[in-house]
Amino acid sequence: MIIDGIKESAKLRDQIKKEITNLKVQTNKSPKLSVILIGDFAPSLIYVRNKEKKSKEVGINSEIIRYPYDITEQEVLEKIRELNENKDVSGILVQLPLPPQISKEKIINSIHPSKDVDGFHPINVGNLASGNKGIVPCTPLGCLILIKKIEKNLSGKHAVILGRSNLNGKPMAQLLLKENCTVTIVHSKTKNLQNECQKADILVVAVGVPNLVKSDWVKKDSIVIDVGINKLGDKLVGDVQFDEIKNKVKAITPVPGGVGPMTIACLLKNTLDCFKDR
Ligand code: NAP
Repeated sequence: MIIDGIKESAKLRDQIKKEITNLKVQTNKSPKLSVILIGDFAPSLIYVRNKEKKSKEVGINSEIIRYPYDITEQEVLEKIRELNENKDVSGILVQLPLPPQISKEKIINSIHPSKDVDGFHPINVGNLASGNKGIVPCTPLGCLILIKKIEKNLSGKHAVILGRSNLNGKPMAQLLLKENCTVTIVHSKTKNLQNECQKADILVVAVGVPNLVKSDWVKKDSIVIDVGINKLGDKLVGDVQFDEIKNKVKAITPVPGGVGPMTIACLLKNTLDCFKDR
């Protein structure tokens, strides 16, 4: 089965839109997402415009605050402080990557945890690790939703996460642990990667190496989630050799059209959740 991320994300956005419409009737208020974009790095511009478009479609007010590449860290921190205090702002997102004069850590730590729609603040990271309520990073949350469309009860499944980034691998592992999976995280220093991947009932790959995972790396009837987005010539490919694997496994996400659309839908979900919590 090919997991259709476009269809699943449309369903999620539809639910979000309905909920926002109902909340507007009850409260006369709507969620607002403030996005800070520094410089004019082309992929960031595309991501931010896409986030703005999708926000508006579901009824989230979206503002993009743009700064030149040479803006100082102090000025950005000042803006974040202002947004933290603004009662009309439900969520704050600072588009990464940042220019070298700005510390990613300082910026992430300065966003109020209750408005941290990316789920990167240490309080939200800690909440996820300790199994408490908090904001979960959008991409792993989207992956979990897709996995649960295929298999509702994940208890006892062996999940292997390929990649250990703060953005993807680590929060994905925490989410699957919470679902009672047995979780293995593998990375660039792991010995015999292929052997480890072969044990997976659920394999989540977030590496950034085109076509790394081959057919003989995956177990028959497993679920394979490909987070990778890589440009190969003029094509976008994932980290998994999709064509070789798709008939062997139970379910697999394509690239594009798999995890990517779910990431934005989960950003909208996080913004709505922040709004409701306020
Ligand atoms: P990252 O921060 O660069 O982390 C990559 C991870 O993969 C690291 O843990 C690294 O190991 C591991 N790794 C790299 N090469 C490896 C190899 N040959 N064998 C085994 N492990 C290897 O990347 P990321 O931010 O997690 O992103 C991963 C991919 O997901 C990228 O293609 C990115 O574009 C994509 N992405 C997609 C979405 C989406 O919405 N679909 C969202 C975010 C990112 P070490 O820790 O040992 O270095």
